[in-house]
Amino acid sequence: MNWKDELRKNITGIDDLIREPGLSEEDACLLRPILQQFPMSIPSYYFSLIDWNDPDDPVRKMAVPSLEELDLHGTFDPSNEASNTVIQGIQHKYEPTAMILSTQRCAMYCRHCFRKRLVGREARKESVKSPETAAEYVKKHPEINNVLISGGDALLNDNKVIRKYLELFSGMDQLDLIRFGTRVPVVFPARIYEDEEFLQMLEEYNRIKQIYVVTQFDHPREITPESTRAVRELVRRGIVVKNQTVLMRDVNDSEEILCDLLRKLTAIGAIPYYIFQCRPVAGLGHRFQVPLLKGIRVVDAARSRQSGQGKCVKYVMSHHSGKIEIVGMLDESHLMMKYNNSKYPANSNRVFVIEPKEDQCWLED
Ligand code: SF4
Repeated sequence: MNWKDELRKNITGIDDLIREPGLSEEDACLLRPILQQFPMSIPSYYFSLIDWNDPDDPVRKMAVPSLEELDLHGTFDPSNEASNTVIQGIQHKYEPTAMILSTQRCAMYCRHCFRKRLVGREARKESVKSPETAAEYVKKHPEINNVLISGGDALLNDNKVIRKYLELFSGMDQLDLIRFGTRVPVVFPARIYEDEEFLQMLEEYNRIKQIYVVTQFDHPREITPESTRAVRELVRRGIVVKNQTVLMRDVNDSEEILCDLLRKLTAIGAIPYYIFQCRPVAGLGHRFQVPLLKGIRVVDAARSRQSGQGKCVKYVMSHHSGKIEIVGMLDESHLMMKYNNSKYPANSNRVFVIEPKEDQCWLED
């Protein structure tokens, strides 16, 4: 299979949705204005995981637009990525890490994406001009010891673009590792396991510099024979695979579901690493955000049922001031938080306590 041909078969229009049971023509047509603002694109593999007989199907929620996206309460850039952008497509928020927006394309446009402002919207140009531009910036900043090639979806780049990144970054002594941020193993796994050229390329450069693939499984139903095969192929080539989950209302905000997800992730070799508090992004905040107090109860309950590997997962919030760990409850109403990464040195490793309201989903400024 040529993955690009396969991707052209993605579900992108309302007419494709109308064919499904569980979505009336009338309801589907109401979604048209949303698609104009926030594109839809669902690989046929991921589309096949949707249970159309269940109107609350979690897989459907992550893939198919909803009228709630018209609620633009919140901001399009809650982590203030604009303020961390040093040149187009490069963010340098924390001293040791450069984050590269390598493309604005994704295999699927997740309805909960915090980069909704740019994914699939080429008119809004935010991605880096070239791998060389990114490498030049990194070279000029010896304090950078790791790069995150993100997007959009880093694995939607052509193999030759990925090779260029690998060639440039694997030759830099200052870098300890190269990370790729991608949801391809979850939503379009054949792009990995059917592309031997890609796998061999990763294996080749991994001998020079350790490569990490950071992916995003959000629900146990996403762990299928196909996605397992993609993860295992990466692991077999020596790549470290880690997982970041977004905690989402009515998708995975239950002890049972989260517990099952974390266990299955450790079983397939995608090490759970972060559980992210969903950001207050315009068009999705109300649909997906889970209150902090509920979040910590669910995470703690699910985490306590894991092996040591599963217990490594941290519940975090990517706030504009830094990456803040939601450590745990001090008592019934107080939450302990800790800066794991801080934009401002004065906050580095700082521990603090908040008393959130029962429905509070984000840290106030
Ligand atoms: S793959 Fe990642 S960047 Fe792309 S839409 Fe999904 S969450 Fe956003």
